[in-house]
Amino acid sequence: MCNRYEEFLEEILIPEEALRQRVAELGAQISQDYKHSEKLVLLCILRGGVMFLTDLIRHLTVPHMVDFMAVSSYGAGSRQSTGQVRITLDLNTSIEDCDVLIVEDIIDSGRTLASVINLLSARKPRSLAVCTLLDKAERREVEVPLRYVGFTIPNKFVFGYGLDLDELYRNLPFIGVVNEEKYQQSRL
Ligand code: 5GP
Repeated sequence: MCNRYEEFLEEILIPEEALRQRVAELGAQISQDYKHSEKLVLLCILRGGVMFLTDLIRHLTVPHMVDFMAVSSYGAGSRQSTGQVRITLDLNTSIEDCDVLIVEDIIDSGRTLASVINLLSARKPRSLAVCTLLDKAERREVEVPLRYVGFTIPNKFVFGYGLDLDELYRNLPFIGVVNEEKYQQSRL
C-alpha cells in the first residue's frame, strides 16, 4: 500500500486556510444562535467528523457538551452508499430536552443523516439541527435539513481533514480530490 498521497491527489479542493476561516465563521454563528440554550450537545458522527468537531468547538463561546455516535453507511472499500445504515456506537447520555447539533463531515445521498435524525428524534431532544462541513448537494437522494454548511462541493470523492481514503489520510490539513485511476495504480 502506497503511503504517498501526492501520487493520486488530483487537486486541493479546500486549502487549510479556507477551512480554518470557515470553521471559525461557523463557530461564531453557532455561538450566536445558541446563546440562550441551557443544554447544548454537539453530537459528532465518527469518524470523519472528529477533526471538524475539535476545531469547531474551539470557536464556541457558549457552554456545550460533546458526545459521539458511529454509524456505518458504506460497504468496505466502496465509494457508493449501500443504503444500509447501522449504529455501531451509540451515545452514552440522554439527549432528552437538550439542544442537539449533529456535527457531520459530509452529506452525500443523505441516507446516513436521515437515519440518524429519525433515531435521535425519538429520544425527545428540545431541538435537533445539523452542521456539516461539506455538502455534495447534487448527490442528494433523501431530503435532510442542514442548518449549517461549511462548503458545497461537486460530486467528487474527497479525503483529508478527517475524511478517509480507505481509512487513511484523515490527518491531512486540507480537503483533496482523489484521482481514482492513479490511486488504483498506486495500490498495485
Ligand atoms: P450518505 O449517507 O450521505 O450517502 O453518506 C455519508 C457518508 O459517506 C459520510 O459520512 C462519509 O463517511 C461517506 N462519504 C460520502 N462522500 C464521501 C467522500 O467524498 N469522501 C469520503 N471520505 N467519505 C465520503
